[in-house]
Amino acid sequence: MAEIIFPRLTLVGIGLIGASIALAARRAGVVGEIVVSTRRPETLKRAEELRLGDRYFATAAEAVAGADCVIVSVPVGACGAVAAEIGPHLKAGSIVSDVGSVKASVVRAMQPHLPPTVSFVPGHPIAGTEYSGPDAGFAALFDNRWCVLTPAPEVDPAAVARMMAFWRALGANVETMSAEHHDLVLAITSHLPHLIAYNIVGTASDLEAGIRSEVLKFSASGFRDFTRIAASDPVMWRDIFMNNKDAVLEMLGRFNEDLATLTRAIRNGDGETLFDLFTRTRAIRRSIVAIGQDTAEADFGRRDHAKP
Ligand code: NAP
Repeated sequence: MAEIIFPRLTLVGIGLIGASIALAARRAGVVGEIVVSTRRPETLKRAEELRLGDRYFATAAEAVAGADCVIVSVPVGACGAVAAEIGPHLKAGSIVSDVGSVKASVVRAMQPHLPPTVSFVPGHPIAGTEYSGPDAGFAALFDNRWCVLTPAPEVDPAAVARMMAFWRALGANVETMSAEHHDLVLAITSHLPHLIAYNIVGTASDLEAGIRSEVLKFSASGFRDFTRIAASDPVMWRDIFMNNKDAVLEMLGRFNEDLATLTRAIRNGDGETLFDLFTRTRAIRRSIVAIGQDTAEADFGRRDHAKP
C-alpha cells in the first residue's frame, strides 16, 4: 500500500490534464479522496460518469474547502480568476498548484489572490496529447515524462517536497527551476514548434482550392505530423502565446535568423551547410530516443495519441 500524500485532493478543471491527474493519483494510491469542480455542468456530469472523483461541486469555492492540495488545471488565461475565487476558502497549511504551460504570468496572476497561510507550488507536467476534455485523460500520461515545479525561493521546502513526491508517484520525473527559466526553455521546445505547425498548416490551407485538395491527398509524413500538432486546443494555445510573449519573441527572432541562413544556402546551392545542419539535427533526435523521451518507431502522425 502506498502512503497517502494528500488525504483530500481537489481538482479545479477536469479536462485532459485534470482527468489524467485523477486517474494517475488513483493508480498510485497516494490520495484519500478526490474532489472535482469544473466550469460547465456538462463537463462535471461527464467527470462523474467517468468516476474521476469521489465528490463533485459546481463551484471551485465549494470544492476547495478542507482540501490538503488544490491543483488548478484550466487554460493559462483563466488561472487568475480561479485563484481569486478559491483564495478565501483555502485551508491554512494546504498546497495550491497548477499545471499551466506558461509559468511566470500564471504566478503573477494567481499569487496575489492566495493567502500567506498556503504554499504555492506552481507546476507544469510536460506531457499531453492533442485531445481535450475529461474523456481524453489516461493514467499513464505522466509516466517517464518531466514535471517542472517553479516554487518561489521562500516557499516552505516541505510543501515542495510533498509536491515532488506526488508527481513522482504519478510516474513523472521532477525538476525545479525558476518560472522565467521554465518559460524560456519551453518557448523553444514546445511553444515555437506549435507556432510553426499552426503556421505551416495555415499556409497550406490558404493555397487555392485545387492545390489544397492535393495537399491533403498526398500529405507526406512530415506534413501529417504538423497537422497533428496543429490540431491542439485553440484556447489553450492562444493563451500560451498571449502569456509567454517575450520568450517566444526571443526564440522566434533566433529562428528567423537561422531560417534566413537556410534560405541563402538553398539559393546558393550550398549543400554543405544543409548537410551539416541535417547531420546535427539527426544526432539530436537520436539522443532524445536514447534517453527514453520518445521511441524510434515510425509514427507518421497515425498512432493513437489519446490512449497508451
Ligand atoms: P482541457 O482538456 O481543454 O480542459 C480544460 C479545463 O479547464 C476544463 O475543465 C474546462 O472546464 C476548464 N476551463 C476552460 N476554460 C475555462 C475558464 N475560462 N474558466 C474556468 N475553467 C475553464 O485542457 P487541458 O489540456 O487539460 O489543459 C489544462 C491546462 O493544462 C492548461 O493550462 C494547459 O496549458 C496545461 N497543459 C496542457 C497540456 C496539453 O498537452 N493539453 C500539457 C501540459 C499542460 P469546462 O469543460 O467545464 O468548461
